[in-house]
Order: sequence, then structure tokens, then C-alpha cells
Amino acid sequence: MRRNSRTASLAATTIGLACALLLSAAPAGTNRAEAETTVETAATSLPLAGKVVLIDPGHQLGNKVHPTQINRLVNAGGFYKPCNTTGTATVSGYPESAFAMSVANNLKRRLTALGARVYMTRTVESLSLWGPCVDVRGRWGGAVHADATISIHADGAASSLHGFFVIYPALRRGWTDDIYGASVLLARDVHTGLRLSGLPNANYYGGGGFDSRGDLGTLNWSSVPVVMVEMGNMKNATDATMMKTATRRDQTYSAGLAKGLTLFLTRP
Ligand SMILES: [Zn+2]
Repeated sequence: MRRNSRTASLAATTIGLACALLLSAAPAGTNRAEAETTVETAATSLPLAGKVVLIDPGHQLGNKVHPTQINRLVNAGGFYKPCNTTGTATVSGYPESAFAMSVANNLKRRLTALGARVYMTRTVESLSLWGPCVDVRGRWGGAVHADATISIHADGAASSLHGFFVIYPALRRGWTDDIYGASVLLARDVHTGLRLSGLPNANYYGGGGFDSRGDLGTLNWSSVPVVMVEMGNMKNATDATMMKTATRRDQTYSAGLAKGLTLFLTRP
């Protein structure tokens, strides 16, 4: 089965990646076990204590100057697609990758304050960097044993369209059947969180702010509940103004995602 081969092929890279991430999380000169014990003791009374979240800030600023690297075809879930894409931008040139990185950093701070352990697929927004590829992003959540993965993006649609929509994986036997149900619940909770923070859901895609996709490597490769969120339409003037405002990125977009993830991670 493809699912079994996916699991087997991931075992070696999973262990290496998880160890590297855990070691890098320990302060210099600190015994790793002691550091983790201290963090966990301090966090046990918090609502997300013991929970692990992977945040995937979409794209990378340098993708546009590394065409060879990002156009390389990778397995995106039983078929091949480019490693990554450049993403979109507002009419004035504010890039999707920068928006995603900013929202991700705010979200990490908020989730950490609630007691969660948070990992990110990239931590720097730079013209000299590219990727990671979509297959790597997709596998990452399983590698760090995340309880949920959230991939942050923004859309570039016709200027009359506005609002956010949450994309959950299509049900694909051997690929997403193990995470489909939980991912639908995650999508509902993230949608609720964003609505509670005051964001309008999309007036397109016909699903009231939901979409399902079977062609996205980031979703297909995940072995933990995963959603991708198009936080708004960068080509819409109202959405773009909000996205370019730092306080909105924190207090509306990131706060809404934190609410949604908290709903999901504290489900009875
Ligand atoms: Zn995107």
C-alpha cells in the first residue's frame, strides 16, 4: 500500500529531523532533559500544555530568485508538482511570504504563551533562501509528532473577492484517509476562531469559507491533522489594507488562528 510505503520511507528522516529540532530547542549549555522538565513543569497548568503545533508559513521570499530549485518536481502525493511557488502579493507589492511569516511568528508567541510546544517549517523571511518543498512541509508535522499542522497563506484572486477560507485535505485512500476526519474538525475550529476574531469568510469558492483539495503536497503528505488557510485575498483593497497592518496581523489574523487551534486542541 502507498500508505505503508509512505510510513516506511519516512522513518529515517523523521528520527533525524525530530532529534535535530529537539536539540536545537535546548538552550546552550543546558542539559536537554533538564530544560524540557523545567518548561513542562511551568506549562502544565496552561490550556495547551503537552500539545504540539507545527506552523507552516507559506512560500519564501527568495523563491522568485531561485527558479531552478523551486521548479524541481517533487512527489506531491502520488503525482509530481514543483517544489514550491512564489506566492502572490498585494497590488502595492507586499508579499504573501512576508505576511505569512509575520502571522506565523505572532501565532507561535500566542500558542507558546498558552503552553504549546511550537515548531515552524521556516523561521526566516529572506531573498537568499527558498523552500522548503511541499513534500518536506507535508512530512514535518509527523516528524515532530504535532497534534496539528497549520499552513498559512493568502490568496491572489479577482479584486472584488474577499475573506478567508480554510482548506482541508480531500479524502484520498492511502494518503489522507488516516487524517481526513480530524482535519475536517480542525478546519471547522479554525474557521470558528477566525470568525470570532472578526474576519469575514470568503465570498467565493461557494463553501462559506471552506474548500477541500486533493492536489496539495503539504496536505497529502501530512500524517497529522492539517489545514491550509488562505487568510484573505491580497488583490482585494480591504483585505490588503488589513494584511499590511501589523496590529491586524497579530490581533485579528494570528489571534483568530490561536483561538481556532485552542478549540481543536482542547476538544473533549
Ligand atoms: Zn500561498
